[in-house]
Amino acid sequence: MINVENKAECCGCTACASICPTEAISMQPDVLGFLYPVVTADKCVNCGLCEKVCAFNDDYSKESNLEQPLAFAVRHKQISEVEHSRSGAVFVAISDYILECGGVVYGAAFTDDFSVVHKRATTKEQRDEFRGSKYVQSNLDGLLLQVKADLKNGIKVLFSGTPCQTAALNSFVGKRLRENLLLVDIVCHGVPAPNVWLDYLSFLESEKGRRIIGVDFRDKQQFGWSAHRETYRYEGCDGKFTVGSSFYNTLYFRESCAECKYTNLQRPSDITIGDFWGWEKTDRNINADNKGVSLVLCNSEKGYELFSDVKENLIFVPASLGDILQPNLVRPTTLDDAARRIFVNDYSSKGFYYAMSRQGLIGWRLSLKLFVGRTKEFIKRIIFR
Ligand SMILES: Cc1cc2nc3c(=O)[nH]c(=O)nc-3n(C[C@H](O)[C@H](O)[C@H](O)COP(=O)(O)OP(=O)(O)OC[C@H]3O[C@@H](n4cnc5c(N)ncnc54)[C@H](O)[C@@H]3O)c2cc1C
Ligand code: SF4
Ligand code: SF4
Ligand code: SF4
Repeated sequence: MINVENKAECCGCTACASICPTEAISMQPDVLGFLYPVVTADKCVNCGLCEKVCAFNDDYSKESNLEQPLAFAVRHKQISEVEHSRSGAVFVAISDYILECGGVVYGAAFTDDFSVVHKRATTKEQRDEFRGSKYVQSNLDGLLLQVKADLKNGIKVLFSGTPCQTAALNSFVGKRLRENLLLVDIVCHGVPAPNVWLDYLSFLESEKGRRIIGVDFRDKQQFGWSAHRETYRYEGCDGKFTVGSSFYNTLYFRESCAECKYTNLQRPSDITIGDFWGWEKTDRNINADNKGVSLVLCNSEKGYELFSDVKENLIFVPASLGDILQPNLVRPTTLDDAARRIFVNDYSSKGFYYAMSRQGLIGWRLSLKLFVGRTKEFIKRIIFR
């Protein structure tokens, strides 16, 4: 039976809990809200399925992969779609096609309290909730079983998520049901903790004395595609409020992200999508307005066929693999173990506010950091004017 001794070895994909025939495994949160499998030993019949299904290792399935992925710089032809997506809106183009073929789409969305969970969409309106990056680990609870049920009913399924989630689903559904399943993963830097996120929102609400009704982790409409600035909307207030990029911090990433198995070009999906950093080397015009451009990797024949089916809605330029490599296509994100230990210890013993302000992520240290940052920007602007 599965036994997670080292947290870095478990990405929380839920595949083991979903496959257990006796429901002996439940996913339990740690102090940061990350889920880990816990086995009720007297329910276990030692079938070994949980260990077999786990794909968070170097042996994840690559058998449908092309020798090398085919890479493209891509942007949706409708600029309004680009404006409402994180990068070039390739996800919208692909998911539109699946929905138009009568299929269903799974992706990460907010709940009413802005927790991040995976949901199922059968309409474009429901799918629109998946647009935009949510920088928190999404909860897959029960989702893998739902996807399998759809596939067994002969429904075409597009699942989009982190590479560890697509690798898990691939392993969980097995070869026979894989035919109707299209997997889209993102280039992934890592996922922050669900509990820290919810505490962060409560902190912002209490500072303002108002409820948050809108979140944008990277507001490109206001700051452009390449900036990393969060904005929030509050009940009863006009406009959006910016708080820099203080939430997205590796201090409370999942430990497994430092040991990620998928930071390479052998992707656990049919298509990979990401932000195309360094797009200028491929085409100097495709993102001249800085509204965003996607990197697309077609990893399997099925992925390339799907891309070909949606190409008419896209502007696309083939890219050379040498020009697309960004850090998380080469190696996992490095986590500062010592600083992380201090953060987790503070968070569990003294709470959110103490842990965050000690790291300068909220409170007077943040104000000081922002002040210094803005002064530097101001001086730079005067010097380079
Ligand atoms: C946590 C995270 C880290 C990322 N790190 C990088 C990076 O290092 N480099 C890079 O190039 N790109 C990264 N991306 C991907 C990038 O931000 C865009 O999602 C991608 O460029 C697709 O853009 P789009 O305009 O086509 O789609 P969008 O419409 O913006 O599509 C969003 C897609 O991302 C999925 N998604 C959103 N949030 C989550 C989540 N929390 N968990 C799982 N799936 C999610 C949705 O299901 C949907 O399929 C990251 C995304 C996330 C969520
Ligand atoms: S990585 Fe997934 S399958 Fe493996 S132990 Fe963790 S939750 Fe279970
Ligand atoms: S060995 Fe089988 S019964 Fe036991 S926990 Fe794993 S999947 Fe469940
Ligand atoms: S970095 Fe790797 S382990 Fe972490 S969420 Fe992304 S795919 Fe999963």
